[in-house]
Amino acid sequence: MFDRASVVTPGGVNSPVRAFRAVGGTPRFMVSGTGPYLTDADGREYVDLVCSWGPMILGHSHPEVIAAVQEAVSRGTSFGTPGEGEVALAEEIVARIAPVEQVRLVSSGTEATMSAIRLARGFTGRSKVVKFAGCYHGHVDALLAAAGSGLATFGLPDTPGVTGATARDTVVLPYNDLDAVRAAFAAHPGEIACVITEASPGNMGVVPPADGFNAGLKELCAANGALYISDEVMTGFRTSKAGWYGVDGVSPDLMTFGKVMGGGFPAAAFGGRADVMAHLAPAGPVYQAGTLSGNPVATAAGLAQLRLLDDAAYAKIDAVSAELRSLVGDAFTKEGVAHTVSSASNMFSVFFTDEPVRNYDDAKRQEASRFTAFFHSMLEQGVYLPPSAFESWFVSTAHDERAVERIAAALPAAARAASEATA
Ligand code: PLP
Repeated sequence: MFDRASVVTPGGVNSPVRAFRAVGGTPRFMVSGTGPYLTDADGREYVDLVCSWGPMILGHSHPEVIAAVQEAVSRGTSFGTPGEGEVALAEEIVARIAPVEQVRLVSSGTEATMSAIRLARGFTGRSKVVKFAGCYHGHVDALLAAAGSGLATFGLPDTPGVTGATARDTVVLPYNDLDAVRAAFAAHPGEIACVITEASPGNMGVVPPADGFNAGLKELCAANGALYISDEVMTGFRTSKAGWYGVDGVSPDLMTFGKVMGGGFPAAAFGGRADVMAHLAPAGPVYQAGTLSGNPVATAAGLAQLRLLDDAAYAKIDAVSAELRSLVGDAFTKEGVAHTVSSASNMFSVFFTDEPVRNYDDAKRQEASRFTAFFHSMLEQGVYLPPSAFESWFVSTAHDERAVERIAAALPAAARAASEATA
């Protein structure tokens, strides 16, 4: 299948990390998922610790989500008009997250962050955007810029196809460094439209914000007339009922969502202060649109999933995550492998270093070759981990005792493989 895919699709995949380039080997083609398990085209079953990169927080094929989708699809798949499902999903988001007074639905996290930045620029009349190295906000041109090491340097394009002119409006700073943010505001007075940050980063591995970091960002933005955008595409409706906002209580001006809110379908959103959202077309002058935005099948799936995510569901996910973190840590300790199990609520990942990891440079200092050996041993034993050392692991309410036991049984050999790995 991968050979077939490679003929008709660049690199054989529709999103790069799926190709296993960071760990080598051939990606598994999955044909079905039930609860915490995935089955591949060769009929092998895996305990899934990727959960479609976050969305499948109730596990695969949850009967109530599937029923909601079947009911919606029986009435048609897209109308290109307003519909009740999208209103109900927006109401659910607004009810859960106090800083979100109004919300606009889109189809991907990338669209959400791209639109939020456009709105911030339109609202403030400014052009520069501050982002942090190691934070991923989708493949938005302006956000695919990473800087050299200096503070408040101009961004350089991270990929061919993003122009220098685009990247020049992006200021890339080290994560967890408020002094760098202060310096950027001082260097660009009246020019910074917004600071965008992952609410708690999960795209350089899991690197939570230091105490006071998000509150400091909000304060600096407010003092300098810029908007504070919290990207909750990954953390939203996962790290608590109200996402990371439910954990740290810092109110952003704008927020972005995706993944969990779509129930496995393409649905995402951005929202926030009503006075800012009022600048969005057709209420205001900042243009934004989408043929499939608020799609009735996607909104039915998202709404069904969110309605099942009550306090008991989060308690269950948190407990499974804590149990796995402790099993993983113990396995590496037993084999004498230097490691840090880093977590933010129920999201977690392993860094192969015992030095503290506070930003992307720290994360890159780990011995990533150990992850490769660990990953392949787990895969061979039927545990599907994210195929990169720089990704969060995800669990779901469906990860029961049997699934945890299968992971526990695979860990000793995989930890040994990590200990024997050479750079
Ligand atoms: N923002 C964050 C924090 C993400 O983790 C991602 C995707 O992983 C995105 C934005 C982009 O979302 P999408 O892949 O739906 O475009």
